[in-house]
Amino acid sequence: MMKTIDDFAVEGLRVLVRADLNVPLDGGRVADDGRILASLPTLAALKARGARIIVCAHLGRPGGQPDPRYSLAPVAARLAGLLGERVEFATDTTGPAARAAVAALRPGGVVMLENLRFDAAETSKDDAQRGRFADQLAGLADLYVSDGFGAVHRKHASVYDVALRLPHAAGYLVQAEVAALDRLTADIRRPYLVVLGGAKVTDKFGAFGSLLGAADRILVGGAMAFPFLAALGHPTGTSLLAADQVDAAATYLDKAAPGQIELPSDLVVAAEITASAPHQVVAADAIPDGQMGLDIGPETAGTFAAALGEAGTVFWNGPMGVFELATYAAGTRAVAGAMTDGTAFTVVGGGDTSAAIHALGFAEEAFGHVSTGGGASLEFIEGKTLPGLAVLETP
Ligand code: ADP
Ligand code: MG
Repeated sequence: MMKTIDDFAVEGLRVLVRADLNVPLDGGRVADDGRILASLPTLAALKARGARIIVCAHLGRPGGQPDPRYSLAPVAARLAGLLGERVEFATDTTGPAARAAVAALRPGGVVMLENLRFDAAETSKDDAQRGRFADQLAGLADLYVSDGFGAVHRKHASVYDVALRLPHAAGYLVQAEVAALDRLTADIRRPYLVVLGGAKVTDKFGAFGSLLGAADRILVGGAMAFPFLAALGHPTGTSLLAADQVDAAATYLDKAAPGQIELPSDLVVAAEITASAPHQVVAADAIPDGQMGLDIGPETAGTFAAALGEAGTVFWNGPMGVFELATYAAGTRAVAGAMTDGTAFTVVGGGDTSAAIHALGFAEEAFGHVSTGGGASLEFIEGKTLPGLAVLETP
């Protein structure tokens, strides 16, 4: 059984909270604070109960060494504002600054450690190396709370190994995510549609394998579409093509029932990713030389919206286009709109996907559940064992 923070008397304890604060930054400013907001219930409860709170998290992929562009300092500042509480920022992760800040913590106080991924051991494939880093993290605390749902699919030191070294509990966010996503693994109301898009294609492409066995239809947009178009022999121009996934795409197309994988029929293309570049709608099998697909086209948006209108359950990860630029946001808006208009139980997963619904003016309440995890929610609905959840089940 997974324990929760309600199962522990935390007053005075040093509690290490692994949060997911991997928010999009725009010139050093927090561009979307959805994940910070999602971490508040656990932190506020621990604070109210007099815990000494140590928040740890990662930001981006700094490559295992300190890099000021990936500092969590702006995130600590935003967290302080939202929590209405001083957040002491340690300029290292487990070094002298972190130890001194933790030693000075008073009950109800909050310290945030610098980016976990400034240490290569955090994400190392070598158990011993991760273990040594986890020893250092565990040495800072009496209790470990796992609340960074967006990272629970990673066997990382702060997600997995540290839980083996300390009494551990799930935070409220992890609890809520598991409760909502469980509805996509059993007794699914059909038809069950999955919408996949976005840019982290290589990370997520394997999901098609299990989803073909679970979903009635998979609607594909964003850069996810290009390996399929390439597998069908269509030109992809200068689109963001995960060339290493083209063979897999061919296999999935073979395996799928007719129409089970729904690809775009048209695309919005341009020569470069800027708002001002001339753009046009073309057939998806005829991307011109030197042009890249940056959004699904209007015909595709209509097809996808119609399908979503008749769904019983929808899971969506990955924007349909480069929604950050208004020119390429229409496909993403159409999918979000159809999901909120329909009667399906809808789940949105992914940092950028939830940032997209906020940016396009949709209320989170209009969806059944907005997950903070992209890769994590996807692996969960695939039925995989997530290391960061499995370890919480251990005594
Ligand atoms: P999430 O964070 O929700 O899991 P991803 O990180 O996989 O999603 O992808 C989000 C990014 O995908 C967005 O920044 C968006 O601009 C980008 N994107 C969507 N469609 C395309 C496309 N056709 N070409 C390039 N990038 C795209
Ligand atoms: Mg992303």
